[in-house]
Order: sequence, then C-alpha cells, then structure tokens
Amino acid sequence: MPQGESPRDQQPPSVRDRLAAMRPDLGGVLRSHHAPGFRHKQVLQHLMASTGVPFAANTSLPLCLRTALDACGHSTLRLLKQQDAADGSSKLLLACADEAHIEAVVMRYPRRNTVCVSSQAGCPLACAFCATGRAGFRRNLTPAEIVDQGREAAALLGREGRRLSNVVFMGMGEPLLNLDAVLVAIREFSAPDGLGIGRRSISVSTVGIPQAMVRLAEETPQVHLALSLHAPDDRIRSSLMPVAKRYSLRQVLDATSEHFRLTHRKLLVEYVLLQGINDSPVQARQLATLLRGRVVTVNLLAWNRVEGPFRPSPPEDIQAFSEELTARGIETVVRAGRGQMVHGACGQLAAHR
Ligand code: SF4
Repeated sequence: MPQGESPRDQQPPSVRDRLAAMRPDLGGVLRSHHAPGFRHKQVLQHLMASTGVPFAANTSLPLCLRTALDACGHSTLRLLKQQDAADGSSKLLLACADEAHIEAVVMRYPRRNTVCVSSQAGCPLACAFCATGRAGFRRNLTPAEIVDQGREAAALLGREGRRLSNVVFMGMGEPLLNLDAVLVAIREFSAPDGLGIGRRSISVSTVGIPQAMVRLAEETPQVHLALSLHAPDDRIRSSLMPVAKRYSLRQVLDATSEHFRLTHRKLLVEYVLLQGINDSPVQARQLATLLRGRVVTVNLLAWNRVEGPFRPSPPEDIQAFSEELTARGIETVVRAGRGQMVHGACGQLAAHR
C-alpha cells in the first residue's frame, strides 16, 4: 500500500480480482478462455446466487466455459451430514476437496439467522477446554472454503424461506491466524452482489493476536471483534490457552484499545466458566477491574461438556459471577449455548461426529 494511504482509501477490487482471490481456479479458466470482464461478473453472480446449481444450468454462459467451469466445481465443499436440533440450530459437517472435514453451525432466531463458520481445518492453538484444539491442526481454509460455508447456510435457510443475516467467525480455528483469507471472505459475505450481509452483522472471534486485531480494524472497521478471554490473569489464562504464554493480557487488551480507537465498535468479551478454575467471585471482581472504562459486553458461557478434566460451572455460580460484574458497571449477558444440542457450540466442534 502506498505510504500515507489507508485501506479505506483504496479502490474496491474489480470483479475479476475478486473472483481470482476467491476462486483462482475459476478465474484461471476465464483467463485461459480470454473471457471479457462481464463473464467474470456472470460467474461470480452464479456462485453467490446459487449453491448446488452447476454452471451447466447457466445458459447465459457459452457451452465451452460451462464445461470447463463445472470441471472445477461450483463449490469447494461437499455436505456430508446435517444434524438438526430442537433449539433451532443445525450443524453441517462439510468435506473439502482434500477430505479435510470442517463444520459450520446455522442458528435460527426470531429476527436473524446466523452462520458460525470455521476458518481453519482443526486449530493449532490447543486450548485445554476445546474439542477442536484437541483434535489438532490440518491447514488454513481457503477464502472459497470459508465463503462456501456461508453459501451452504444461505441455501439451507433459503429453502425454509429464511435469509442468512449474520456471520460469526467462531467455528473451528483461529480466524486471525488466517486473516488474508478471512478478509476476502468478509468482502464476499458483505458485497451487494455477494451474500449481501452488512459488515456490522459480521463478528470475528479471536483468542487475542495483537497485531492481527489491529490489522482487522484497519482493513474492515465495521466488523465486530469478540475476544475469548476466559480468565482474569495471565497464569490461569496460560493454563487454559497456550497462546497466552506468547501474548500477555496487557498486550491483548492494549490491542483491543487500539481496535476501539480505529473502529468505535463495542468489544465483546467471551468468558467460558469452568467450575473451580475461573468462576469465583474474586475472579469476577478481577475481570471487572481489567475491563473498567472499556466499551464492552461480557458474554458468560457455560462450558459445553466434552472429554477432559473440566466441569461446567453450576448455574448459580454463573449467576453470582454475572452479578459481581454487573454490580461493577460491566454489561454482562449469560448466554444460552445455542448449538449445544448438536455439539456445535464454542469448543465443541469436532467433538462429536
Ligand atoms: S477455543 Fe478456538 S482457538 Fe482455542 S483451540 Fe479451540 S478453536 Fe482453537
């Protein structure tokens, strides 16, 4: 980027560049056929308006192009299994072309429909309470593999007469370790000729990678940031999340301050309560002190039981923790674990197949 130019000053990319960034294979086909710009637009429109509809069905494209595009595939993912739960959530188990398996969770609410997408196949960060972390890391997802989770969700909801309205990057993996791909996916989720989801309806959740948090704010300031904090001090945090040995709470919170300076977006703090580990009233008061003066909402989440040495905090302890925070002026919400019934809630993806 030229000196002095902010990302916001940059020209939006052309349709040709967008398609090449998301689906380089399709862009390559169009290039090799010397297809003009409007063909790139047609192909992008076909992708974003339909899932499961081959290019062969798009008779506005020349036959030779349709055949070559279909050889690449209209989606990078195959739906292997859908599990629906009574709480209105559906977990989608999806296979990539190399048979890496990933998961997305669709959550239906009265006024919105959200998809929780994965950004990596597995996760390298190995948080102690997390099923995905325990299963290990395979690779970063491509932009198309992230976008295609949204396309699958939009198609599923569309068949029910619903519209996908929100995206959260809270599935498998740490999005800020795959930020280039995540930024391309955010662009396609939010483009009017993409899935048309407002950037303010998109949230990225991170364990706290300071430099990447600032870059996210610079590149896409409308998107919400959620920080998985899970402990009020470095010692406990490091015991739960190995990444905390690399980035201290001070560094992570300084990055959230910079994020707020650049975006003016309220920070969402996620805090999974584990009995006897991070759920005492003293720790609630410590957390309140850490967050004092910040524009923040704390989401308290009961841990979703997977194998391991932890136990979820009892509801009365969660309530007491919440009251300690509220009494100190920290906006706090106790979250019902949507997706829990299909094992699609935070830290549970990859646990049950
Ligand atoms: S909680 Fe998130 S960052 Fe930690 S191991 Fe699980 S997926 Fe990775």
